[in-house]
Amino acid sequence: MAGSSRVPVSLRSFASSKKATVRSSSLLVLNLDLFRNIVFAFFVLRHFRRAVRKLRGRGVFGTLVDFYSAVQRYSYGVFLNFPGIRSKVQSQVDEALKRLEDKLVPKGPGVTRYHELPKEGMTELQVKAELKKLSEMEHASWEEGKVSGAVYHGGDDLLNLQSEASRIFSISNPMHPDVFPGVRKMEAEIVAMVLAMFNAPSSAGGITTSGGTESILMACLSARTKAYVERGVSEPEIIVPSTAHAAFDKAGHYFGLTVHRVAVDSVTLKVDLKAVARLVNYNTVLIAGSAPNFPHGIIDDIVGLSKIALRRRIPLHVDACLGSFLIPFLEKAGYPTEPFDFHVKGVTSISCDTHKYGFAPMGSSVVLFRTKKLRSYGYFISAAWTGGVYASPSLAGSRAGSLIAGTWASLMSQGENGYTNSCRDIVGAAKEIESGIRERLHPDLYILGEPMVSVVAFSSKTLNMYEVADELSSLGWHLNALQDPPALHIACTRPTVSAVEKFLKDLEKAVQSVKLRGEGEPGSRAAVGETTALYGVAGSLPNKSVINTMATGFIDTLYKA
Ligand SMILES: *Cc1c(COP(=O)(O)O)cnc(C)c1O
Repeated sequence: MAGSSRVPVSLRSFASSKKATVRSSSLLVLNLDLFRNIVFAFFVLRHFRRAVRKLRGRGVFGTLVDFYSAVQRYSYGVFLNFPGIRSKVQSQVDEALKRLEDKLVPKGPGVTRYHELPKEGMTELQVKAELKKLSEMEHASWEEGKVSGAVYHGGDDLLNLQSEASRIFSISNPMHPDVFPGVRKMEAEIVAMVLAMFNAPSSAGGITTSGGTESILMACLSARTKAYVERGVSEPEIIVPSTAHAAFDKAGHYFGLTVHRVAVDSVTLKVDLKAVARLVNYNTVLIAGSAPNFPHGIIDDIVGLSKIALRRRIPLHVDACLGSFLIPFLEKAGYPTEPFDFHVKGVTSISCDTHKYGFAPMGSSVVLFRTKKLRSYGYFISAAWTGGVYASPSLAGSRAGSLIAGTWASLMSQGENGYTNSCRDIVGAAKEIESGIRERLHPDLYILGEPMVSVVAFSSKTLNMYEVADELSSLGWHLNALQDPPALHIACTRPTVSAVEKFLKDLEKAVQSVKLRGEGEPGSRAAVGETTALYGVAGSLPNKSVINTMATGFIDTLYKA
């Protein structure tokens, strides 16, 4: 009996368990369906909201243009990958990189290249002799003022003073304030002096960094953290002028920010305020303007940007990396200026490079925040680290106290009068170049916008500017090539001041040569120069992957010993 009764029970239980599985699996199916629908709804909603934001931000036409260029970029990328094309492009890239290497990396019997530590350390005299040789390698002649920007020289006396300051503090590290109290004091004072220059309120604070790029990175990072902590923004966006420094893209790349670049007005070359306002949405963590920008030396409408920032309650960064120690002194030097500092209510952070017109040693910059809280959003603290409680204000860990000492010495020795005078000379040189081009090179060249500081950008409606750059280059000048529109700029520095007339004469010569070429003078069609080769190609490509490959090769070349 026991046996026979067991069968139905087990059958029953089998049946019931089967029913149960059927029921639960249909429930599971139901749940899965529901789940799938929810996920799908989220997916649609997310993309729908993105699409709405995009349409609102860029307009229907702008969205279509973006779409068109994305398609163009993609199809050109596919084209570049065709077997025959790909190998051809690669061989041209290799050839260009070979030329670059020949130029940058000296070889041959006269050159000793060190690929390993010397077995036995050199004597001081030997090292000094090597250093002398290295400093005398053939180079672009900045000493005659023929290089745009690049060398922010404050005179030989200042250089000697800086070297002395660096020597005294060469082993110091601000990470250890108890060991190097003097460095802490100098660093705090550098920040205080720069805060005062930019009319910061007493609530403000700042930090020193390794350069303008790090200053901009820190401003973006603190804005991102602020938006995350205070509003829960997890898909952060920043809005910057098309002319703003590439460091903003770097910040986007490092910190996962979507970077919206906004076109500038075609006449004033200041950022289009309406376009900025349209792009602001819940995810916007920062908007930025330059005072002035690197390409054209134009100061954006900071007051206009401030109005948007205040209305939408978002931080506004002013990039005064280049303006640095010129723009705060324009008025005192007797030149027109525009509002750019903390006097403008919406401005929440400012980057200022001491290593540009502050004439401090390279590797030194300051970033200022309207409130100490905003500054602290950039801090990094690791409370539970095995190595102890770790806290640092910026990207670096250990830093060079020698740079702080060199910077402090520069600020102290120049003083307000020193910087006012250098502003008068440098901006004066830029104004002479500007009026020289307007008067002597019209109608071949025209000035971009109305520059107010040290950079003068110029272009042409008739001439290829990259050919002009190559002609100038053959006369020993190194200007910066710009894109979109093709143009050149010169960033005046102290060495430029005594080279203005020489520059204008050589520019006239260069323009003449390019014009003669254009008229097909026999024998005048010289080989295509470097600037023309690079930017001629770069400008015409819808997909910049070739340029990326080239640029990667360029950086690799820099590390060939
Ligand atoms: C130089 C510069 C920067 C930062 O450049 P670094 O090379 O990192 O010092 C940022 N913005 C502008 C406008 C600049 O000219």
